[in-house]
Amino acid sequence: TLSDRLTSVLQNLRGKGKLSDADIDATAREIRIALLEADVALPVVREFIKQVKERAKGAEVSEALNPAQQVIKIVNEELIAILGGETRRLNLAKNPPSVIMLAGLQGSGKTTLAGKLALWLKKQGHAPLLVACDLQRPNAVTQLQVVGERAGVATFAPEPGNGVGDPVDVARRSIEEARRAQHDVVIVDTAGRLGVDEELMRQAADIRDAVTPDETLFVVDAMIGQDAVTTAEAFRDGVGFSGVVLTKLDGDARGGAALSVRHVTGEPILFASNGEKLDDFDVFHPDRMASRILGMGDMLTLIEQAEQAFDQEKAEQTAAKLGTGELTLEDFLEQMQAVRRMGPIGNLLGMLPGAGQMKDQLSQVDDAHLDRLQAIIRGMTPAERANPKMINASRRQRIAKGSGVTVRDVNDLVNRFFEARKMMQQMAGRFGFGAGNSATK
Ligand code: GDP
Ligand code: MG
Repeated sequence: TLSDRLTSVLQNLRGKGKLSDADIDATAREIRIALLEADVALPVVREFIKQVKERAKGAEVSEALNPAQQVIKIVNEELIAILGGETRRLNLAKNPPSVIMLAGLQGSGKTTLAGKLALWLKKQGHAPLLVACDLQRPNAVTQLQVVGERAGVATFAPEPGNGVGDPVDVARRSIEEARRAQHDVVIVDTAGRLGVDEELMRQAADIRDAVTPDETLFVVDAMIGQDAVTTAEAFRDGVGFSGVVLTKLDGDARGGAALSVRHVTGEPILFASNGEKLDDFDVFHPDRMASRILGMGDMLTLIEQAEQAFDQEKAEQTAAKLGTGELTLEDFLEQMQAVRRMGPIGNLLGMLPGAGQMKDQLSQVDDAHLDRLQAIIRGMTPAERANPKMINASRRQRIAKGSGVTVRDVNDLVNRFFEARKMMQQMAGRFGFGAGNSATK
């Protein structure tokens, strides 16, 4: 895996303060091999590596991470971005029924997916209708019906005994049936072939024209690796699709197909299938796929921990300063930003060892208020932030004007700060943390 490979490179990088171009090149080489091994298509690998290199060369030196960790962090972030960044939600029509059409090669997992999707939608309060438009293989309709029964949803299929039905006609009639029986989502299962051919594309395109889907999902077996790219291109040109579903991720595929398909077609991956059972199915998460492709979940966890530990260290330094009365407005601002990053203000305790009472001070502060406090502190000179005692009346006036608040707001902040500092000193006296005492917890 990549983590094994990188270990040796990491060893060489350890202890270096800054990334040299040679370091970046060496790391990039290893990442390149790992991506190729994960079945990412070569042109995609090339472009990706180029991007990562550029970013790594311009990267700021992180205080929390060593150079190798920094490169990995960049690679991981870029992978997540290329995999779509945010999770893309399923598009449903404003006026039901919504139509979701599934397309892909035979055996890619469309029929199974139809059932999974139906169950997933049903759990969210929808009333899906499965539609059997694969009339090519004798068992295809029965297979969909079985899947539908298992999911507890209705299936629409041509009546038996009528000979081979016309899939386009079935598709069209299924929409009427959905309206009649009040199904709000129609899932159209289509036929696939072993390979890409014109007839397959024509039929899929005809079905598409008959039902004008809100989503056409290209279903692709993650195990087919490099072939995913050519297949995806063929379906994009022949039928067109709005999203991708990766199946068989429970196999040993490294998921490189995901990266290639997403990159080559520009369409988002919506779902991932990872087994034969109906609930072996999930919304696609770019970050999980990224760590799968890199094969270095542990490494990423370490990096996260290193960054958190670094924040923690800073918080402890602040706590030590609190005890000696050296707390500056700069620290105050830093703490507020840290609290902000962490989400709920109540989490302050975790950031500031022993600073329970400060939590009360800040708990009255909402986000908008916090913005204002930050603006005020930013409006101060460094000297003022370091030594708030010097902020006299005329300075207060200047700061208020500069940050667009009233003098009273500035007074409030300064008073609040002195109160907090006093409180911290008292607490420090009581609990014995602060100067010369590293046991801050
Ligand atoms: P279709 O031809 O595209 O409709 O594909 P099917 O839904 O019939 O699936 C083909 C085979 O792959 C079946 O044996 C499924 O049970 C299996 N299959 C589908 N999805 C998955 C998956 O995510 N993981 C695994 N292990 N098998 C799957
Ligand atoms: Mg099928």
